Amino acid sequence: MLLACSFIVLVCLSLVAVQVWQTMHSRAVQLRQAERASANLANAVAQHAYDTLKEADTVLVGLVDRMEHGDASDVELAHLRDFLVLRTGELPQLQDIFIFDAAGRWRLNLQPTPLANQDSSAREYFRYHRDHADRGAHIGPPIRSKASGKWVVTVSRRLNRADGGFAGVVLAAIDMQYFLQFYQRFDIGRAGAIFVASDTGVVLMRRPFEEMALGRDISKLPLFSHYLPKAANDTIVLTSGQDGVTRINSYRRMQQYPLVVSAALAQDEVLAEWRADAYLRGAVVGVLLLGLGWLGGRLLKQIRLRIEAEAELLLARHSLEKLNHTLEEMAMQDGLTGLANRRRFDAALSEEFSRASREGGALALVMIDVDHFKLYNDSYGHAAGDECLRAIGRAVGKGPRRPGDVVARYGGEEMVLLLPGTDMQGALLVAEKVRGAVEGLRLSHAGNAGGVVTVSAGVEAFDPVTRDRCPLELIEAADRAMYRAKEEGRNRVCACGGAVARTG
Ligand code: GH3
Ligand code: MG
Ligand code: MG
Repeated sequence: MLLACSFIVLVCLSLVAVQVWQTMHSRAVQLRQAERASANLANAVAQHAYDTLKEADTVLVGLVDRMEHGDASDVELAHLRDFLVLRTGELPQLQDIFIFDAAGRWRLNLQPTPLANQDSSAREYFRYHRDHADRGAHIGPPIRSKASGKWVVTVSRRLNRADGGFAGVVLAAIDMQYFLQFYQRFDIGRAGAIFVASDTGVVLMRRPFEEMALGRDISKLPLFSHYLPKAANDTIVLTSGQDGVTRINSYRRMQQYPLVVSAALAQDEVLAEWRADAYLRGAVVGVLLLGLGWLGGRLLKQIRLRIEAEAELLLARHSLEKLNHTLEEMAMQDGLTGLANRRRFDAALSEEFSRASREGGALALVMIDVDHFKLYNDSYGHAAGDECLRAIGRAVGKGPRRPGDVVARYGGEEMVLLLPGTDMQGALLVAEKVRGAVEGLRLSHAGNAGGVVTVSAGVEAFDPVTRDRCPLELIEAADRAMYRAKEEGRNRVCACGGAVARTG
């Protein structure tokens, strides 16, 4: 029972353990895949940003060279504009190209109807180049173009005079839509995010697009303050302080331009499929556990019932055995005196006769009859007669001493002693002892000579028992001897051949 119970519990626990392990394993696999996906996404975004900026910057490098070493007259600029209009037709990301003079006035742009008298001296890129002598490309914060009204990202370079003084700025405005369209191609879920920021932490582009987010300083966020100083490229899991979403975040610091790109996938969305699968598996396991529990319960109940039934059967068997034993004893016992009954005597006589016959041993039989017992009944009543028979039975029972001896009630007020291995002499002694014991009881019997209950006994012994004789002969001989004892005056023992023992 305990074993069955332990087995069922073990099966249930194993099922749960395997399920939990599988679920956690598939979660880890899913997260690893998401990490790879976000790293690939960050690489693609970085490559795209590089390619886009590089193409625009290449145009600017050519312009700088032309402006500084060529003819920068208005006529020449008009030619240059025509050339640039053609050139930018091949570069869809290029929204516009500008040349500003040292005061920030527009000398060239590519708008269909060129804007005149515009001044960009207050723009960040203009101030930067005016105040910095470095000749590299500068990527400014996102601005809304004065020419087109669209959001643009600017790449600019400084123009120098021959003496090294500030001569103006050349600038390429890149349509932010160009970046955003590229970012839209990726499935990053609803809570995923892609952004490109300057390495000082100013947001340049972002998906999802939010005007408010453009130009925002995020240098204090953990990505810039904590992770970037440690590693230029990495994939980290971050919980946003703004929306509370945990994201798998891959970032890259670009080598060629002072930019940082980041691609992030929301962990919850990444795990959505896994979670649904886990719930389904959990439900299936739950149903299985319920089924197992139910079956186990039934099994245990059946085992318990079987054990109980077996115990009941065992009990019933013991009771039956006991009953059988009692019945057997009852069947072999005389109900009144408690001595062996006639059936038992017959069986014992047959058995002992055969044995003595086989072994050539002696077998003696003593037939005992109560004297004038009819008178006793008549005088004292039947109940007293029964009681008297019981007392005689006890006295007779004490007569023989050997284990094989049988004392039985032969019928009515007659009793019999079967004495295996006993010769005539021994049997006479036993018979006399019994007779004396009964007389010694001193049970009043007015109708009997001497006034007490007495018995007469007839003895016969076959010594040895031979094969030509039968048990009936022994009985008949003892019976004859008993009748002789009656005839000779009762309260005595007679052998078949002649009377022995005392008279009453
Ligand atoms: P005898 O000395 O010649 O043997 O005389 P008797 O009266 O004993 O012999 P008889 O065969 O005439 O009577 C036997 C009596 O024993 C008859 C019967 O009433 C009585 N008896 C036999 N079995 C029982 C018994 O189980 N209980 C009682 N109370 N009496 C019994
Ligand atoms: Mg009799
Ligand atoms: Mg009698």
